[in-house]
Amino acid sequence: MAASLAPSGFSQSSELVSTVLQLDQRPKTGCKRKISQELATTVVSWFRCNGRDFPWRDTKNPFHILIAEVLLRQTQAPRVVAPYVHLVTTYPDPASLATADVDGLRQWFRPLGLVRRADSLVECAHRLLRDFRGQVPQDLRDLQSLPGIGRYSAQATLCMAFNYSLPIIDESSGRVLRRALGLSDTGPAYRDIRLIEIAGRVVPDSHPRDFNLGLLDIGAAYCHPRTPDCLECPLLERCIVGSQKAGIMRLQV
Ligand code: SF4
Repeated sequence: MAASLAPSGFSQSSELVSTVLQLDQRPKTGCKRKISQELATTVVSWFRCNGRDFPWRDTKNPFHILIAEVLLRQTQAPRVVAPYVHLVTTYPDPASLATADVDGLRQWFRPLGLVRRADSLVECAHRLLRDFRGQVPQDLRDLQSLPGIGRYSAQATLCMAFNYSLPIIDESSGRVLRRALGLSDTGPAYRDIRLIEIAGRVVPDSHPRDFNLGLLDIGAAYCHPRTPDCLECPLLERCIVGSQKAGIMRLQV
């Protein structure tokens, strides 16, 4: 049975829940479109004023973004800053990274627990040179064929580097979206096909990067797994779980 996304003590049964659950039924019209547009607009606006600063967010260089996505896989962003800066300053393009001393790079990465990423990145540089003329491909399958690049990293690269309107769903952003839309937790978010499909229609064509990064940052700042800080969250008025929480607190005073 699917688990609830609500923190303990909060029910998800409401007309709004059932309305939003229809988001996965085409076409996206009327109030469903309005709900997803309002959510997207709020996330984008919040991100533009409050989003976290990381060096890979300041570049449009597709190779540097690809490096960041390989490093960020299942790793907290702050841990990735030092290796990212080291790599893009020492090896700014596939040609230079392909000539890197892999053992030296492994030693550099060892204290960070990222030794295998060194191998993936050097192999990736070789593949880019051999199969893609040194360019980062703009095709999902081509990207996924590269060492160390799964579907998540490929979609993130396409969105961040080339502004493709694709969802980027990990546990953090998935948790925000599930709670905001009143969707059930059916396991790891990155494997939840229904969630990814719904996210694909909520992500705005105009600002996909800011929307995806905004969800990630709201997840990190407010939407904690056990104790979401709903009363401070910018999505409170757009979120089913948050609205229920605020309603219950109002009844208690
Ligand atoms: S209001 Fe914000 S913190 Fe609370 S459940 Fe919704 S998205 Fe998460």
